[in-house]
Amino acid sequence: MGLLALGTALDWPDAQKQAHLVREWGIKQLLEIWKKAKGKERDAMLWGDEVEYLVVTYSKDDPKVLLSLRQADILDALAKDKSLAQRRCSPTPDESGYKSNQPNPVFHPEFGRFMLEATPGKPWGIEFKELLEVESNMKLRRCIAKDHMRPNEYPITLTTFPRIGSPGVFTDPYYPVSGPKLRSQFVPDEIANPHIRFPTLAANIRSRRGRKVQVNVPVFRDENTSWPWKDPTVNYDLHQWPEDDDVRNGAAPDNFIHMDAMAFGMGSCCLQITFQAKNLTEGRQMYDQLSPLGPIMLALTAATPVYKGFLADTDVRWNQISKAVDDRTPEELGEKPLEKDRWRIPKSRYASNSTYISEDARLRPEYLDPDLVIDENIKQQLLDGGMDDRLATHFAHLFIRDPIVIFAEDLQELDLNKTDHFENIQSTNWQHMRFKPPPADNSIGWRVEFRPMEIQITDFENAAFAVFMVLITRVILSYRLNFYIPIKKVDENMETAHARDAVLTRRFYFRRNLFPPATRPSRRGSPSGSSTPTSAATSRPPTPFGPVEDEYRLMTINEIINGTAYARANPGDVPASTTDDKGNDEYATDDFPGLIPLVESYLDSVNVDVTTRCRLARYLDLIRKRASGELWTAAHWIRNFVANHPEPDEPSP
Ligand code: ADP
Ligand code: MG
Ligand code: MG
Ligand code: MG
Ligand code: MG
Ligand code: MG
Repeated sequence: MGLLALGTALDWPDAQKQAHLVREWGIKQLLEIWKKAKGKERDAMLWGDEVEYLVVTYSKDDPKVLLSLRQADILDALAKDKSLAQRRCSPTPDESGYKSNQPNPVFHPEFGRFMLEATPGKPWGIEFKELLEVESNMKLRRCIAKDHMRPNEYPITLTTFPRIGSPGVFTDPYYPVSGPKLRSQFVPDEIANPHIRFPTLAANIRSRRGRKVQVNVPVFRDENTSWPWKDPTVNYDLHQWPEDDDVRNGAAPDNFIHMDAMAFGMGSCCLQITFQAKNLTEGRQMYDQLSPLGPIMLALTAATPVYKGFLADTDVRWNQISKAVDDRTPEELGEKPLEKDRWRIPKSRYASNSTYISEDARLRPEYLDPDLVIDENIKQQLLDGGMDDRLATHFAHLFIRDPIVIFAEDLQELDLNKTDHFENIQSTNWQHMRFKPPPADNSIGWRVEFRPMEIQITDFENAAFAVFMVLITRVILSYRLNFYIPIKKVDENMETAHARDAVLTRRFYFRRNLFPPATRPSRRGSPSGSSTPTSAATSRPPTPFGPVEDEYRLMTINEIINGTAYARANPGDVPASTTDDKGNDEYATDDFPGLIPLVESYLDSVNVDVTTRCRLARYLDLIRKRASGELWTAAHWIRNFVANHPEPDEPSP
């Protein structure tokens, strides 16, 4: 999290009055940094990962696992310890003798008072050797975090705590519900980071909406689930807060697990990767080209099958976070005619991207959403300030939102040497990609953040997914790959990614020919290692002016990641798709090379020593086998664990 300034946070009615000013100043700050940084060139190809943890308590004598609410004490202990327990947690030395020059990792607060975030001490560079350091650095971070906890506390990388909000005790220490900030009937206010920013964020989202957030997740139905299913933990008889009426007004529909607070979403952990581009143009290209990969990587990393102690019918956290911070009013949601509000807004401020931002000639206008909601006024200011139409559209879309947390002290005068007002809006637009301009001092470059992935249980897996994203990004840039599909199809894919075992049972819209005309690399091989170009590339020349619908088709993740040849040989649950979504089988011979084979041909074409190549192969192998179903997702594993778990009074098998 950026933004942790101290000050007097305004309650919603006062904040709303200042929203206009914050947007106005935010745009001025954005234009200032735009002017300073638009011509920046040759920034280094740096990147960095962020790992988020839950802190739990557990001991042999007390095996009931609880969320530890000691985030502040743990961060304090970490901040005070200059050596950060390097002696006890030294990173495993690299076999090749490669010496790390990473400083100590950095620990950050997060929304949940039971959460931590850790990043490397400085971003990773372009060296392949550094890719091999990521896993040991992640282990180091975990070890250092643990070293500053009590003996019965552990940092774990689960997306969500399965029993958060269940009846009974789930935090250590215990606090009763419900508090004035969250007004939740399931979680106490003490679940959130006490820094004024966080409870204010939750309270102001609730006030702006005019009711509590409604996080309803379809419950998993098995042969023993009574149907229709009513969430047995919902209390319809509370009368402490006005919001206690929500459930009496239909907030908790049948067949859904019902949750009512920001903590149910923002208390989730994810794995994020930030890339620095060499310049603005490359950053915009990276943003666009990585966008269609978002839903694919979400499904591949699925790790969230349980909420509030119930198995859900979905496998990923995304939509739940989206609902947990959805501040739209009934007018914006389309439930009431527009009177006070300016627009109907189709998505929460936490949602998949709604537009592309590159001026790439391959971006056809048909890929964009004609109904994108933007603030025309703000767009005009950006255009007048010299920004081009496409980027101005992007920011004019982000700026349809109100700032949620405003500190009175920041409203005294506009400081163009800061970006605080811009960041206020930018950092509360939680889209699956984030385009990060340089900071006010222009000390670093234009960055792109890839945000959809779920955190994995082990550091090996987290390193594998981080490394894969770095490699695929380099492949995209070196081969000038084209992943464009209509942005609305990316939205659809994001929904598809929620299905149980989506990685094996669903198909996703994906571009059929990734290669630009005439610059196809010669070394690209098929998965079997032969260098015959795939029929997709040979028999289907790119048709930039043909119908957009012909440019993409439905594919399994196995096809997307491993290629059609591998997918046919290792079909998993869904056979390699031979039909389009209308049932036509015209694509039966339409081969797709697969992202892993593309990464491998890229690695063949650059100078990587054998040891490095072998170690990278372990990571690629995890991704390959996840995609084919040879390895389970964490969601599948947890589901299986719950389904086969004996009742507490049954003897263990
Ligand atoms: P946020 O929480 O706003 O996404 P963080 O400060 O937690 O941002 O950092 C995100 C990641 O970006 C970290 O891994 C960090 O090391 C990395 N990072 C920092 N500077 C750069 C840079 N110039 N280029 C690429 N990555 C960077
Ligand atoms: Mg974070
Ligand atoms: Mg961070
Ligand atoms: Mg965060
Ligand atoms: Mg952040
Ligand atoms: Mg981040």
